[in-house]
Amino acid sequence: MSTIRMVLRICALASHPLDVARMQHSYPCFRQMSTDAQSIAARLSASGIFRTQGLIGGKWTEAYDGNTIKVHNPATGDVIANVPCMGKRETSDAISSAYDAFNSWSKLTANERSRRLRKWYDLLIAHKEELGQLITLEQGKPLNEAMGEVNYGASFIEFYAEEAKRVYGDIIPATLADRRLFSLKQPVGVVGAITPWNFPLAMITRKVGPALACGCTVVIKPSELTPLTALAAAELSLQAGIPPGVVNVVMGNASDIGDTLLASPQVRKITFTGSTAVGKKLMAGSAATVKKISLELGGNAPCIVFDDADLDVAVKGSLAAKFRNSGQTCVCANRIIVQEGIYEKFANAFANAVQNLKVGNGFTEGVAQGPLINEAAVQKVESFVQDAVSKGAKVMLGGKRHSLGMTFYEPTVISDANSEMLVSREEVFGPVAPLLRFKTEEEAIRIANDTNAGLASYIFTTNVQRSWRVAEALEYGLVGINEGLISTEVAPFGGFKQSGLGREGSKYGIDEYLEIKYVCLGNMDRA
Ligand code: NAP
Repeated sequence: MSTIRMVLRICALASHPLDVARMQHSYPCFRQMSTDAQSIAARLSASGIFRTQGLIGGKWTEAYDGNTIKVHNPATGDVIANVPCMGKRETSDAISSAYDAFNSWSKLTANERSRRLRKWYDLLIAHKEELGQLITLEQGKPLNEAMGEVNYGASFIEFYAEEAKRVYGDIIPATLADRRLFSLKQPVGVVGAITPWNFPLAMITRKVGPALACGCTVVIKPSELTPLTALAAAELSLQAGIPPGVVNVVMGNASDIGDTLLASPQVRKITFTGSTAVGKKLMAGSAATVKKISLELGGNAPCIVFDDADLDVAVKGSLAAKFRNSGQTCVCANRIIVQEGIYEKFANAFANAVQNLKVGNGFTEGVAQGPLINEAAVQKVESFVQDAVSKGAKVMLGGKRHSLGMTFYEPTVISDANSEMLVSREEVFGPVAPLLRFKTEEEAIRIANDTNAGLASYIFTTNVQRSWRVAEALEYGLVGINEGLISTEVAPFGGFKQSGLGREGSKYGIDEYLEIKYVCLGNMDRA
């Protein structure tokens, strides 16, 4: 029996801790999983959403050559499951399935698509607990944050179930009396959706919600680090009555899958969330077939604290903006830029608050900081801290691996940082908060805009005029004023400069999946 089949069979059988012990004895591969992971996997399996195969044309599928990749729990290093390592052939088949399904899915009425999306939303919420556990298991974020991601992720399906019914065209006043002109909006076609590991559910639903709402079909490629949440969501889409072929999921060899999506003339749109480097490759690769493309890329968010800020609000907001998901989000504050009059007070209050963040396995009660996703992520954080210290920064708190081992890193605050340091120039993507000092509003804006990125930014001030002035001057797609958590399905999300192209969420997000067709009816005066 293949390892995957064995794990599936085990998980199907082991819905009780005693069963787990029995399975450990009978199946050596099961011993790789910790008891927690085992019982969670067993519970997930019992609920029918623990899927470990790709989804092509409505069929759960192994890699054609039988190759697999291991999915790890970053908190323990244990293997959670083996999933297929797919490539060109599976991706081509997934594209064909999506292409065939487009014909019928796009012809359903908006109301019919809306009803199925709404049902999918209901199922995501009904399985909130299991999905949250799955996210914590494969991604590492604390369980309450993971459950928050399920709410956030599901909200895009609910929102676009509603928006499906509002894809309006226009009647255009004609320039000639015997003509009638109008524009209609039509789905672009098959969409390739490539997503990262840091939000294993929400980065998928933010794309698939609007795509399906307007009649597109999708081939999803989740990160190989966190495919299980994507597969669970896809299983629920089938249960919701979304027809086979409308949602396909392939994972494995990223560049083979990406190249196949790019080369196919049947794929009319690429939507990507991930690093700027990979986004640029996909943008270049889309040129050959002139695909529509949306990119949600890396950030380098400034968080500006003015002398007139409310200190408590600024500390709470900066903490949330920096340390959510252990600093592994594109909108995490990367540079905390503090005015000289409040610098010392803010630095001390902030460091005190950071000190209280409990680090540990995301399943442990009260934990606010999980592990980083992998060893490479920890090494990147270490090298950034080293670089900052070598250039004169001081470590106020943390600054090293956590005693828990694995990929846990201490929540870290660095003072006396400056714009020359790597922590200021690039996304650290970890729990490190560098504090920079500024004198004037103009200087703060200059420092904040001194980057190629332009995704999220934050301002803390009690001066209303200043908040407007600075918000307008910041070259960023998102501005939070006196607030560190600003993402919501009803507002447009996306970056300026090299942080991306297009917007996700809100009424604007659906436009990314639509073509506008102009129709001219002539000779109206003839009988
Ligand atoms: P990444 O390395 O760019 O990977 C993102 C996705 O692209 C993964 O599914 C990856 O597959 C795939 N991929 C890698 N190389 C590819 C290729 N040559 N062709 C096609 N696909 C390819 O980014 P990440 O490390 O997962 O995510 C972190 C980055 O995402 C950060 O920069 C963060 O700021 C950004 N992000 C942006 C937003 C936003 O909304 N702007 C939101 C979240 C994250 P494998 O994982 O299987 O290799």
